[in-house]
Amino acid sequence: MSENEFNVSDNFIHDIIRADIAAGKNGGAVHTRFPPEPNGYLHIGHAKSICLNYGTAVKFGGKFNLRFDDTNPVKEDTEYVDSIMEDVKWLGADWEDRKFYASNYFEQMYNYAVRLIKMGKAYVCSLTEDEFKEYRGTLTEPGRETPGRSLSVEENLDLFERMKNGEFPDGSKVLRARIDMASPNIHMRDPAIYRIRHADHHNTGSRWCIYPLYDFAHCLEDAIEGITHSICTLEFEIHRPLYDWILNTLDTPCKPQQIEFARLNLTYTVMSKRKLLTLVKDHYVSGWDDPRMPTICGLRRRGVPASAIRDFCETVGVTKYNSLTEIELLDFCVRNDLNKKAVRAMAVMNPLKVIIDNYPEGLVEEMEVVNNPEDPSAGTRKVKFSREIYVERDDFMEVPMKKFFRLAVGNEVRLRSAYFITCTSFEKDADGNITVLHATYDPQSRGGNSPDGRKVKGTIHWVSAGFAKEAEVRLYDKLFTVADLGTIPEDANWLDYLNHDSLKVAKCLIEPGLAEIAPSTNVQFERVGYFFSDPKDFSAEHPVFNRTVALKDSWAKIAQKA
Ligand code: ATP
Ligand code: MG
Repeated sequence: MSENEFNVSDNFIHDIIRADIAAGKNGGAVHTRFPPEPNGYLHIGHAKSICLNYGTAVKFGGKFNLRFDDTNPVKEDTEYVDSIMEDVKWLGADWEDRKFYASNYFEQMYNYAVRLIKMGKAYVCSLTEDEFKEYRGTLTEPGRETPGRSLSVEENLDLFERMKNGEFPDGSKVLRARIDMASPNIHMRDPAIYRIRHADHHNTGSRWCIYPLYDFAHCLEDAIEGITHSICTLEFEIHRPLYDWILNTLDTPCKPQQIEFARLNLTYTVMSKRKLLTLVKDHYVSGWDDPRMPTICGLRRRGVPASAIRDFCETVGVTKYNSLTEIELLDFCVRNDLNKKAVRAMAVMNPLKVIIDNYPEGLVEEMEVVNNPEDPSAGTRKVKFSREIYVERDDFMEVPMKKFFRLAVGNEVRLRSAYFITCTSFEKDADGNITVLHATYDPQSRGGNSPDGRKVKGTIHWVSAGFAKEAEVRLYDKLFTVADLGTIPEDANWLDYLNHDSLKVAKCLIEPGLAEIAPSTNVQFERVGYFFSDPKDFSAEHPVFNRTVALKDSWAKIAQKA
């Protein structure tokens, strides 16, 4: 992967790294990591973290680790481990041979915990959960001295060992760091660092029944792997003193620096893994890869290229301030990316038949059509043209409004890459619905070129009635009806804000060559939008296309307003 493919512009984290390199810290090394907990599929917020961590490593000639932060045995699964690897790879980040599991460090973490006990810096606490909270105090009140604080080192070593040996039930005891019950930072009031969980772990099986808690585990994982800059989201800022306390107290050989940045939030969607899991488990969506999901696999199935996601993350940038990013910005990045690479094709969503009365019956001509005006190397293709075609119903008006340059009786338009036609009349059924248009063509305008310099203002797409194939299109819209789910009333159920029109399945008519393309191909249906042949359901017999994004750019408008 070359550097420009993972372009991460300078940000405040890079300033810190540059200063560290200049000061010779860590011998000038830069080593980052992406540490997902394998309890769900990755989403676009994770993509931001991956782009930042990997892009930063590339930028400074450093290293990047993939680490499964699998210290919670209950919620984790190998299905998630596999999906995470697939998604990180697809995004283009390369961990080389550095894929690690926090669970492989359980032995070392246990030894570190024992070391803390021996230093008098950790003790076993037998308070109930309620008592634990009561002793801890509140944001305005300091905590109180806990009974466990008076145990001797020997007593603590014995109790911790017995915790490990499975003598106590879940929740009956925890190991706590002995720091300061009166600290203004609640995370420093003797935080729990080990808990009892009699549960099998996806990697270590039944070997352990005590598991380290996040704050204790994460800094040690970073230190064990020689991470220099441990980049995480803002909510961990208040945990940083604990991160540093553990590493300094244990005096680990490597002392990574935690740096926080603002997480990505997107309008009209949710990013919490718990909520995403609910959407999947309760069948509000078809799965983790439902194209409406903000998951990486969902976006991939929708047809969003990895390069567009990287570009989006780069455009959003890295800051210290929490904010909400408009989903239209993502659409903009996707359009921008696909404009260069997606081949064009003609598909009619809402067909209206046109009979070209002066076109010889039985004649079929092959029209040469440019595949991508943005990319001459994409070449041209042949599309069959005949006397009866279909155009979009919207491209005709019985009583044309002002500046309507498409089909209306007496109007001449260009059929893309085919001919100029002039609408002459239309037919209606008993209910007054327009059923057929009649037109004449100018044989001199073959290829859609003006024969005598006369201009037509409208160019429309078409498919040949005799050769077009039917396809299924899945039209996706926003998953939720409110932009910021953080603003719904406290007693409201977030599921009540699901957009029930977020998926419409429709039929359309496609030029025949489109049925022959491979699954997972990006195509622009001219004048309609970007579509993607579904990776799972597409076949030549049953072509299925997911709408990646419509053509209309609403981001430009939003940006203008701002
Ligand atoms: P949870 O902790 O609720 O399971 P999580 O999204 O924090 O969810 P992790 O697996 O811990 O899940 O995340 C892995 C990494 O991705 C972490 O370093 C985390 O900071 C980062 N990350 C998660 N969500 C976002 C986001 N929305 N924007 C940027 N980074 C994120
Ligand atoms: Mg997390």
